[in-house]
Amino acid sequence: MRKLLFVALLFVPMMSIAQDTAYVRSVISRLTAPDMYGRGCGRSGDSIAAEYLRAEMRAAGLRPLVPNYWQSVYYDVYDIDSCELSINGRKYEPYKEFRVYSAKRYATPERLKKARHKKQIDNVWYLGVDKLHTYSPVSGDYNRHPYCVEIVDSLFPRKIKQLNDNIDLIHNSGYKSQNVMGFIKGETDTMIVFTAHYDHCGTMGREVYFPGAHDNASGVAALLDIARMKAYTNPHYTLVFMLFCGEESGLKGSMEAAENPPVDLSKVKLLINIDLFCGGADGLMVFNANATNTKGWIDRLETINNKWQLVPNIKRRDNSPNSDHYHFSSHCPAVYILSIGQPYGGYHDPDDTCERCGLQHYPNNLRLILAMLGMDFNLDK
Ligand SMILES: [Zn+2]
Repeated sequence: MRKLLFVALLFVPMMSIAQDTAYVRSVISRLTAPDMYGRGCGRSGDSIAAEYLRAEMRAAGLRPLVPNYWQSVYYDVYDIDSCELSINGRKYEPYKEFRVYSAKRYATPERLKKARHKKQIDNVWYLGVDKLHTYSPVSGDYNRHPYCVEIVDSLFPRKIKQLNDNIDLIHNSGYKSQNVMGFIKGETDTMIVFTAHYDHCGTMGREVYFPGAHDNASGVAALLDIARMKAYTNPHYTLVFMLFCGEESGLKGSMEAAENPPVDLSKVKLLINIDLFCGGADGLMVFNANATNTKGWIDRLETINNKWQLVPNIKRRDNSPNSDHYHFSSHCPAVYILSIGQPYGGYHDPDDTCERCGLQHYPNNLRLILAMLGMDFNLDK
């Protein structure tokens, strides 16, 4: 009986809620293309992505939530334009053999102490470390510490006789980016808000860029997929879609949207943020799952999953400032849902590509979320 039910489940609900995995892959493929420059600020990759997302919202039939779908956001950013290093005549490979970071964050006294080897030349620290840190393009203090360079320690020369460093940081204070926002009017003005960030880590020179398929082209694609499913029907709740910039620079886009919200946040029934959605072999994780205003929803998520066995596991976590739900969580019920386990290419890594984003768990991951919201008509009974 259970087997029969499972077979029925595979075929029947797919037709009614119609996730479009081919469309999702096409969005991920577009957002991760080389001419989006890792969706960073260096060559305006974030704005190229925002233009594309606005067109997709329009095509899905979403109405603009803010004029022309864009909410301006200003923040300090940097990207790495050129990234060449050779020491004693040996050329080093960016990302794999050396990485460039904000010195304010990575050349702290504690990290300098931990480095196996270190040398300061022209106010730049060169550090030999066993494992290069995960890259993150947060703002730095460029007046006192322009940047620092971590080199794989086994390749760090014991004597530096000649150093050629052609590292060119683009630092832009007050950089203008934008959140992309649309909505579908429901029977009621009570809202379900879906959020995901579309920016990523930009480039590390001309040769290396960060595609960011898992982080977070996948979440953006899922939101557009939901929007397309519901665009021509009449949902009960008004459905709001917010795609944020500036997450990788410190949740800047979502902070702006939470502090200057284009909607009345007291009317939000639930905000669901999706970030890292290529995987799912080990199930889903939910942050802010135990708050008094979110607990009931996540209990329901678990109950539905126990009944239908859509994902292997649901892990619950307390609130954390680790993604774009965070600044909303003091104003309305807000959770952050991510896929856990493979398949995805890497994290803040040039290998986080569309090809390595398997998507085989995507339909069930999404169905479960929609069922929790009562938007999957076969599972929400
Ligand atoms: Zn990230």
